[in-house]
Amino acid sequence: LKYPIGKADWIISHENVIFIKKLGEGAFGEVSLAECEIGGRKVETAVKTMRCQMTRDTRAAFMKEARLMRKYSHPHIVRIIGKIIVKHLPKVGLAVDAHPLMIVMEMCPHGSLLSFLRKNKGKTTLSERLRFCIESADGLAYLEKKQCLHRDIAARNCLLSITDQIKISDFGLSDDKRTEMHDDTLDKVPVKWLAPEVMQDKLYSLKSDVWAFGVLMWEIYADGADPYPGMTNLVTRAKIFCDDYRMTFPETTPPTISEIALKQCWAKLPSDRATMKTVHHKLKDLSMPMSDV
Ligand code: ADP
Repeated sequence: LKYPIGKADWIISHENVIFIKKLGEGAFGEVSLAECEIGGRKVETAVKTMRCQMTRDTRAAFMKEARLMRKYSHPHIVRIIGKIIVKHLPKVGLAVDAHPLMIVMEMCPHGSLLSFLRKNKGKTTLSERLRFCIESADGLAYLEKKQCLHRDIAARNCLLSITDQIKISDFGLSDDKRTEMHDDTLDKVPVKWLAPEVMQDKLYSLKSDVWAFGVLMWEIYADGADPYPGMTNLVTRAKIFCDDYRMTFPETTPPTISEIALKQCWAKLPSDRATMKTVHHKLKDLSMPMSDV
């Protein structure tokens, strides 16, 4: 498929879609494997369907995610392919809010990075781990350039393509209108990925994504373990805040890696953290033949 998707191919009629199986459950509804006919070709895709009878606000949030993703084209960001429209809906008896909403995405057949790391516990090589870091940093540096806050960077939101390339997904909380935002509407926040200023003041910024990237690096070297092992959310928060506590990486981690997380990503003040562009360059430098293990 050619990107960006032209207007003609963006809208896909439901007659050209065959649902094959359920892949996962999201906040808005299900994600399914589906074969779509696009521009005369059959393509395997992942279709995210919004549950019917959602409020207008939820429907707007669902479409916002799709609109946002449509603007991006990068090898390490999940691509959005189109929107499915259901033709011949009964004219009576179906309120506008009950129309199904479906977005079609690039299929990532190897699932999430988190499950990959857990499945291959102890077997993922150091160069593969470094590649995961470099690719996700590359995707995030692209989002940073586009001034897009992701706000939910974690191994569970990185998917793997057929060739095990990282694809950053889940733009449900993302925003590209504001590079800083205050948000206290979330009740179930992933505390262990949050920067101190988010824990304290709910202040998200491009620099809080850099903090979360440090936690993602830790997940990559810790085989997808839960961050801050043995600590509750409450304890994590208190330790980061009061004691300036930071996680230690597993012993097998190259010190150059843990240093990037500690110094560039986990600085207390957002202004002391590096940009994703810098982090990406530093990681890429590590993959030069001399340091490849
Ligand atoms: P939500 O943002 O609502 O939580 P996700 O985008 O995380 O939903 O999707 C839920 C699950 O569906 C994921 O954990 C993953 O297993 C699966 N999934 C989502 N997008 C894809 C995709 N493009 N390819 C393959 N599986 C996907």
